[in-house]
Amino acid sequence: MLYVSGHKIPDSDSIISAIAISYLQNQLGTQAVAVRQGEINPETRYILDKFDLETPELKTSFSGCDIFLTDFNNYTEAPDDIDQANIVGIVDHHKLGGLSTSSPLEIWIRAVGCTNTIIKEMFDYYEVEIPENLAGAMMCAILSDTVIFKSPTCTKLDTKITKELAKIAKIEDFKSIGLEMFKVKSAVDGVPTRELVKRDFKNFDMNGNKVGIGQLEVVDLTIFDNIKDDLIEDIKALKDEDGYDTVLLILTDIMAMGSQILVATNSLDIVQKAWDIKVKDDQFWLQGCLSRKKQIIPFLEPAYKDK
Ligand code: MG
Ligand code: MG
Ligand code: MG
Repeated sequence: MLYVSGHKIPDSDSIISAIAISYLQNQLGTQAVAVRQGEINPETRYILDKFDLETPELKTSFSGCDIFLTDFNNYTEAPDDIDQANIVGIVDHHKLGGLSTSSPLEIWIRAVGCTNTIIKEMFDYYEVEIPENLAGAMMCAILSDTVIFKSPTCTKLDTKITKELAKIAKIEDFKSIGLEMFKVKSAVDGVPTRELVKRDFKNFDMNGNKVGIGQLEVVDLTIFDNIKDDLIEDIKALKDEDGYDTVLLILTDIMAMGSQILVATNSLDIVQKAWDIKVKDDQFWLQGCLSRKKQIIPFLEPAYKDK
């Protein structure tokens, strides 16, 4: 059995791409099953329900298994025993993160906005038809990862393939489905603070320092007015509990096209140097910032280089 898995703390791209790759592999004659390394977030739940797709089983240990990685290629987001697994393929849209393999493998890595964009090209390459409901879910994953085409990570290929998928899914107004999805994402009332911090959270090793960066993308930042202080307290606690040098929580307003960054750090000078800003009341505003991958990591990582 071939297991197809996205990254730890799965997002919609990780879950839907695992379903899509396992479907493709089965069509090509390899028995494959989609799995997940963590809990399903509300946005992904919305997509799975809307398109009547089964939730992948939870699986966190892969020792001795064949595994196809999707939407990641680094150790920090891989299963802990990935070195004991046989990686047979990788499809991803992130920078290379240092994984090595024991045998040759299939690799599809492109600098596009979403893994599902690349997977549509895999279906075309292998001449396999995409079922209507799967196409709809893949379309939603692209709309999520590219923030409805607003993110600087979005390419012409992402918009072109979104339209192709919408056509297969017989969906006309895909932008309104995208907005609906972000409204689901914006429901933060009554959700425990730590759950919000960890909802879309990634770990990084920056020059030997443990850095954690979470992101919440919403349609209106005022929903955080009453809970922002709690969020700041929580990332400070998380930093000390789990030995982080820095924890950032990116609160992204997809309408205002910018992010309020909440900061907990032992290295304030590094954070301030990264964007040439002043942190005030444990936070700062970055106009135009929508993407952790393109507008946060490439600035913070070099700032850590001289530490
Ligand atoms: Mg992802
Ligand atoms: Mg992705
Ligand atoms: Mg994302």
